Amino acid sequence: GLLLAIETSCDETSVAVVRGGREVLSNVVSSQIDTHRQFGGVVPEIASRKHVESITIIIEEAVREAGIRLEDIDAVAVTQGPGLIGALLVGVVAAKSLALALDVPLIGTHHIAGHIYANRLIGEILYPSLALVVSGGHTEIVLLEAEGKFRIIGRTRDDAVGEAYDKVARALKFPYPGGPHVDKLAQEATEEIVLPRSWLEPDSYDFSFSGLKSAVLAEINRSRMKGESPDFSALARGFQQSVIDVVTGKAIRAAKEFGARQMMLCGGVAANRGLRERLAALCEEADLPLLIPPHNLCTDNAAMIAAAADLKWRHGQFSSLDLKAEAVMSLEDWSL
Ligand code: ATP
Ligand code: MG
Ligand code: FE
Repeated sequence: GLLLAIETSCDETSVAVVRGGREVLSNVVSSQIDTHRQFGGVVPEIASRKHVESITIIIEEAVREAGIRLEDIDAVAVTQGPGLIGALLVGVVAAKSLALALDVPLIGTHHIAGHIYANRLIGEILYPSLALVVSGGHTEIVLLEAEGKFRIIGRTRDDAVGEAYDKVARALKFPYPGGPHVDKLAQEATEEIVLPRSWLEPDSYDFSFSGLKSAVLAEINRSRMKGESPDFSALARGFQQSVIDVVTGKAIRAAKEFGARQMMLCGGVAANRGLRERLAALCEEADLPLLIPPHNLCTDNAAMIAAAADLKWRHGQFSSLDLKAEAVMSLEDWSL
């Protein structure tokens, strides 16, 4: 069947048409980033308004690009949460209207389930599978004991990885979103200022990045007080190495402890080259197959929402037309 999926949880308006849960016929993404950059971050009110302006256009574009007619759609999926409430509402209202008009089922979908199931668009998921989710708003280690069964093993206690990257990037004078700039600078660095690793309790799979971010800021201040200019590239390198050590170290340990047959890397920070390379090396050492989606499926997009919604579709689990957008939403509760 043909699934039309809508994603508007943050600052991307995206609509995809996916056949059989895996064959992406179109995946149109309209980013608002140029608008938000001047404010140094996503402004929720502006995001909602921009989604309203573009949603119908993006739906039409996705349908046209897929080479189908709107009447061919068999079900409609939408990101229900978590995310910016005003932004989510735009997608939810559009999805309900479509489902009602076309008289097809509606599937409210969890955004992080989407980031994880983006991997199903590129390969076979072997269960139990371990997902390392690293994005702008989330940092989680998720165990999938079986298809659609999500169990959160560890999560950040303060900043998400992407958020920490963006805050450090701002201190290094990069424009928003600065993650990719810090990544590039770290790759090119010849020196490294070694920063602390925040492992937390020995058996914990949780994360904390706010102390690391503070350590970067403290280093910058220390240099300035001495009248020196801080070595931004050595700092970027130190920050990146600390993040990579901890997230990959915990993910590999969790994979071993829970007997995972596979590792998946997902979310926008999966674009980080240092992270991809290190995780690939560690997985090879541990004889663990690794899936990492291509960049356009790592950042927010509707095809990943369709891939997750397909789970519910195949199990006949649909939402009613009084579906509500949820700013905060449990991944575990969304399990099959
Ligand atoms: P969530 O999915 O948690 O709601 P989000 O969808 O806003 O958050 P994504 O789009 O998945 O987040 O990821 C965006 C984040 O990824 C930004 O914080 C950005 O700086 C970061 N990022 C992108 N590329 C890189 C990179 N190469 N290195 C580090 N961080 C990166
Ligand atoms: Mg985004
Ligand atoms: Fe996201």
